[in-house]
Amino acid sequence: MSETRLQMRAGESANVILRDATVLDPVAGIDAPHDVVVRDGRIAELAAPGAASADGLEEIDAAGLHAFPAFFDPHVHLRVPGQEHKEDIETGSRSAAAGGYCGVLAMANTDPPVSTPADVEALLADARASASVRTGFLATVTAGMPGEGLTEMAALRDAGAAGFSDDGLPLRSARVLRRALQYQRLCGGTIALHEEDPELSGAGVMHEGPVSAALGLEGVPSISESTTIARDAAIAGYEGGRIHVQHLSAAESVEAVRAAKAAGVQITCEASPHHLCLTDEAVRSLDPRRHKMNPPLRSEADRQALIAGLLDGTIDCVATDHAPHAAEEKEVPFEQAAMGVTGLETAFAALHTHLVLPGTIELGLLVEKLSAGAEPFGVERPSLAVGSEANIALCDLAAAWTVGEDGYESRSSNSWCAGEQLTGRVQMTLVGGQIAYRLRSFSMGVAA
Ligand SMILES: [Zn+2]
Ligand SMILES: [Zn+2]
Repeated sequence: MSETRLQMRAGESANVILRDATVLDPVAGIDAPHDVVVRDGRIAELAAPGAASADGLEEIDAAGLHAFPAFFDPHVHLRVPGQEHKEDIETGSRSAAAGGYCGVLAMANTDPPVSTPADVEALLADARASASVRTGFLATVTAGMPGEGLTEMAALRDAGAAGFSDDGLPLRSARVLRRALQYQRLCGGTIALHEEDPELSGAGVMHEGPVSAALGLEGVPSISESTTIARDAAIAGYEGGRIHVQHLSAAESVEAVRAAKAAGVQITCEASPHHLCLTDEAVRSLDPRRHKMNPPLRSEADRQALIAGLLDGTIDCVATDHAPHAAEEKEVPFEQAAMGVTGLETAFAALHTHLVLPGTIELGLLVEKLSAGAEPFGVERPSLAVGSEANIALCDLAAAWTVGEDGYESRSSNSWCAGEQLTGRVQMTLVGGQIAYRLRSFSMGVAA
């Protein structure tokens, strides 16, 4: 069976010591201060603080900083081909590196959609020339998305497609999903699903509830998402296929995934930072730049259900659904504005601020969920174990900063937490053994 292919720009292998970093990798069972020795791009040694010999390596004073396995986002929109005024591989992957990510998977709802092996090959070549992090690409499920006929799934997998998704739109037809799962048995490739019943969503622009009623805006009910998940999980179970549910937003959806997992369905799912941190109360701002997305921000009970899903393992990973839009697509009345928000540069800081600092979840769980998104797509999860390729997010948990005050690496500025003060910031990211990002203000002081 073919494998998921990821590409990034080739560069110089790092030779550095992160002196006295607090190393936390819950999966590898590491939680202690170490000198992290990176030689020729690999983690050569985790020495006692101060014990590693400098030996020609660049020394970075990491005392007071945390070293985590770099993060992996299985759901971003890089907007290539066709919408480069919003983002491209270079800017989107730089945004990812600034957020502590070592890898991303880009969605296929571009203009035109990514539907042929040649499309996938061209994007992988582009990533090899310009990506700061390992970048992979999903292809559409339906040819000419949205469509009735399937793409050439086997040929797309051979070209390196990371999986299949019509994200942006749901698969309306149960028959289409069933046939896609039958092909998946032959060629592999997880099918990622944007779950929504267009009949139930109607012309809704926010969550259906007391806030939408008060604002006089048309709502999208939670059952638009959860009923579709239940349908698709049943089909996946029947066909023995593998599905990944994108951007879970509602309590009923968490329950639907929990039930499917209990029934033995091969199902994984993700939740986004904005759904874990905000509720539809935020939509009272009527600011589409920060608060209009699909699925919409839901109620506090929904947010609590997502957190419970993270805690009990129902929700496998955090994914940002980074969705850049140009200013003119957002600076219009709420009903008419484009849906989606950016999130790569702020995911760690926002979740650290909103969930870890108040004691809602532990730091280790956040770190684990931020890198777990690799596995549903057959990509190895980054690790800090000795011998691993260096994929490291070096973070200052005490750093307070205001989102957007120094601009963004992304070409777009529709961050859901623009203007918010967050605590915790990525200082440096190593990706594939190379230094992919350093915060400008992070001094590279040689350890004493
Ligand atoms: Zn979507
Ligand atoms: Zn999306």
